[in-house]
Amino acid sequence: MNDKVEGFVLSQSDYKEADVLMQVMTREYGIISLVGKAAKKLSSKNHFLPMCVYEFIIDYKEGKTIFSVHGYKLLRKYFDDDNIAMMTFRNILAELVLKNRDIDCYDELLFVFDRLEEGNRYLLGSMFVSYLAKRFGVSPEVDGCVICGNTSVVSVSNRDGGFLCHDHLGGNETLSVERLKKFRMIVKATFDNYDVLKQFDYDSRDFDLILSFFLDNSDLKLKSYELYKALNI
Ligand SMILES: [Zn+2]
Repeated sequence: MNDKVEGFVLSQSDYKEADVLMQVMTREYGIISLVGKAAKKLSSKNHFLPMCVYEFIIDYKEGKTIFSVHGYKLLRKYFDDDNIAMMTFRNILAELVLKNRDIDCYDELLFVFDRLEEGNRYLLGSMFVSYLAKRFGVSPEVDGCVICGNTSVVSVSNRDGGFLCHDHLGGNETLSVERLKKFRMIVKATFDNYDVLKQFDYDSRDFDLILSFFLDNSDLKLKSYELYKALNI
């Protein structure tokens, strides 16, 4: 009874007449569904925002995956509807978490969200995607050509699973040495290396490289990423 759980609201949708249903990643129990009673009513005291961390009071029962919220306290707010580019970017990470429900990444997600405003979003996003790829078991081979081991590499192949040398380039696009280096650093790094990595200038193409590698190798599609690219921001 009255268990306190800390959770990040990944998504929110309408539920029954006046309630909302939230997908929440919790520190304690992974992803669970929470129902905010009467949250759609203006007069209600229950109002929740996506992309925020709350302490929720629920009656937790093992084996159950959906719970009513009995009380809550806002702990951290990342919701900002004035900044569409940033909200859309945050949605990409939230959708990734929702589609990889079995991967525990609570602290990593908050590490990234805490730094997105002032940090480089493409670096932070790439670090998060690389972390998921490792946990999913599809991290790219970046010590040499994935086919022959040659350490003189010129490209990345999603299908082959990592770096390619000139002889095995096939139809793949040649990438600059700098881009290949940044890709390797993202794959090798952990969150402890953030202070070193932030000296490098990661851009949207770097993020796209690691994200498309992960999506192709895990067979996922992200609606939010399609939207982000369509917005061209
Ligand atoms: Zn090769």
